[in-house]
Amino acid sequence: MEKILNYIDGELRAPATDNWLDVMEPATATAYGQLSDSGVEDLELAVAAAGAAFPAWSQTPAEERGRMLRRLAQKIEAMSEPLALAESIDTGKPIAVTRKVDIPRAARNLHFFADAASQFASESHHMEAGAINYTLRMPLGVVACISPWNLPLYLLTWKIAPALAAGNCVIAKPSEITPVTAWLFSRLCQEAGLPPGVLNIIHGKGPGIGQAIVEHPAINAISFTGGSATGASIARTAAPEFKKLSLELGGKNPSIVFADADWESMMNGVVRAGYSNQGQICLCGSRVLVEASIYEKFRDEFVARVATLKIGDPLNEETEQGAIVSLPHRDKILDCIEQARQAGGNILTGGGASKPEADRCSEGWFVEPTVIDGLAADSACNQDEIFGPVVSLIPFADEEQALAIANGTRYGLAASVWSSDVSRCHRLAEQLQAGLIWVNTWMLRDLRTPMGGLKSSGVGREGGMEAMRFFTEPRNVCIKYR
Ligand code: NDP
Repeated sequence: MEKILNYIDGELRAPATDNWLDVMEPATATAYGQLSDSGVEDLELAVAAAGAAFPAWSQTPAEERGRMLRRLAQKIEAMSEPLALAESIDTGKPIAVTRKVDIPRAARNLHFFADAASQFASESHHMEAGAINYTLRMPLGVVACISPWNLPLYLLTWKIAPALAAGNCVIAKPSEITPVTAWLFSRLCQEAGLPPGVLNIIHGKGPGIGQAIVEHPAINAISFTGGSATGASIARTAAPEFKKLSLELGGKNPSIVFADADWESMMNGVVRAGYSNQGQICLCGSRVLVEASIYEKFRDEFVARVATLKIGDPLNEETEQGAIVSLPHRDKILDCIEQARQAGGNILTGGGASKPEADRCSEGWFVEPTVIDGLAADSACNQDEIFGPVVSLIPFADEEQALAIANGTRYGLAASVWSSDVSRCHRLAEQLQAGLIWVNTWMLRDLRTPMGGLKSSGVGREGGMEAMRFFTEPRNVCIKYR
């Protein structure tokens, strides 16, 4: 069985305690590897290595740091097929998706911040009183990047790339549930000649090593993507230590459909938004708000399309719906569906566990793509993040009601509006409480723009140069010359 080692000070190391965790393949429910269950000794080694590497890395010319990130991007591109396969096995996600989305986008993150490194600039302000201010943007030192299981390599690179580009040294912790692509990436870092200690990847459990990372006094900033409850717990630990925090958290995103939307592209977009990666993307549209005049027509066609999504072996090219990432998560999703049923919801399609045809997947963790309606906007199913292939339909009478329902949750990550009325789209964009608003599209991302949510969906939005700025501290210098 393959052993997934930590990457510390440029070396691949077993955990000091020699404790290991099983790594499971969701599609088959079998263990296929073992993962370092790291402890504080491993963390101390990583922090010491990162601290020792910081003076040289932060002094390395930005263009050279950019060249190193580009080399890493090219290594990912050269290894794209084995990485796509590994991520599909690790997450249960269809291989067509890991090939098309996860792996190319991970390389793109590194390319983007390779360019950004050389474009990063600080501000200067002239005062009439005869003085000039300029702002130095200094890297923070040793920073932590903690990422979740749903887009493992994409979200790991999204966090480490701006941190490294800005001259920091990083302790990264991928999710214990999906560690494989981070492990392969650490080998690519060795091949690319990344100086030892600049990036350290430590594996293990969130409440164990994750918590220890957050508490460590030498770690100056934490960039975290994950659930809102974990984010709140991290904030409670880090805030009294005055650590810099960026939290990208959960969502309960509305797709808002008006009668004047272009039917075909709307229907494709809303199905994709609901069920991509089995609904396990923070940006998924899990509440579909539909104008009452087209509700029945929409519902019937939506249900018919969802019912034909092909569930199957994630390694099969044709598969559209793969496995759910873990057994506890599958059971949580089924529990949410049961609660929705008990609350009076109509299960229009799906509603249970599923067994794909492939023999090797007979024990795997699959859930039928599910559509529910008939629930109040304030019911648990319409308020809580389920993070699975479960979409709830809610009719609305007019724009005002659509907006009230859309904004009526504690989350504020993303929203999509489907309409051909340009003025209405602008009006809604202004009033929707969401960090990311798409009009007649979904999940179209430009890396120059801020990423993240409002309310319980997070703080410290990152994106483009803002992401690099997060990983620096400003020092203003005021020079009086007259
Ligand atoms: P979790 O919050 O459970 O975990 C995220 C990461 O934090 C994992 O690496 C986890 O480790 C680690 N962790 C868990 N507990 C602690 C702790 N006490 N201290 C430090 N680290 C800890 O989220 P999931 O992995 O379940 O991911 C799904 C969530 O992520 C969803 O809510 C989703 O909406 C959100 N998300 C948000 C995105 C955004 O950009 N806003 C993007 C993608 C996902 P381990 O897994 O090993 O326990």
